[in-house]
Amino acid sequence: MNLILLGAPGAGKGTQAEIICDRLRIPAVSTGNILREAMKNGTEMGARAKSFIDSGALVPDDVIIGIIKERLAQDDCKNGFILDGVPRTVAQAEALEEMGVQIDRVVDLEVLDDVIIQRLSGRRVCSACGTSYHTTAKPSASPDVCDRCGGALIARKDDEPSTIRERLKVYHEQTEPLVEFYRARGKLVVVKGQETVADTTRQLFEKLGVEP
Ligand code: AMP
Repeated sequence: MNLILLGAPGAGKGTQAEIICDRLRIPAVSTGNILREAMKNGTEMGARAKSFIDSGALVPDDVIIGIIKERLAQDDCKNGFILDGVPRTVAQAEALEEMGVQIDRVVDLEVLDDVIIQRLSGRRVCSACGTSYHTTAKPSASPDVCDRCGGALIARKDDEPSTIRERLKVYHEQTEPLVEFYRARGKLVVVKGQETVADTTRQLFEKLGVEP
């Protein structure tokens, strides 16, 4: 299955992508994670992306399209994939179509802005493996330590309140039009992502016709 997860930052795309990934044994492709890795490794692409990411803006389409072309050409994407956080603009969605990438379903995770702000301010991510936690909704077993790999948990720089507001604005202006883009193509599935992680997963599997 080739899936896209749409939704505002903090809607739960990364969390649900991990769950679907384990269940369907297909890789999750997160352009955000790829860009953060590039920044950590000090690559040229990372350096180019940094100022956009830190200010809550989108990284230019040509950078993202390059990343996605390279990543989807790898062998592990041959039997399906989940795109988490990409496409984020109509130009990126059109580029996927031009590349001939077939998409089966596009899941829109709907969450109100107020809930997003609460979620992102409590989000912590592992500095080593990228696993996501939340101080109250999904705490790690020991404070500030990743359950998976023992790495240190940190708050993302772009999860600061003023950057969160900017990212939400960017989402409504540039990414939300993709809901209609994929609805018009008959691919859209809407999932309410407002409640618990388990409730969102249940709806998601039901709507995708996947046994839990
Ligand atoms: P994320 O982890 O998906 O929230 O992405 C973090 C940041 O990386 C975003 O706020 C953007 O600055 C950048 N980014 C990630 N994916 C994309 C994309 N598909 N298009 C443009 N910018 C992106």
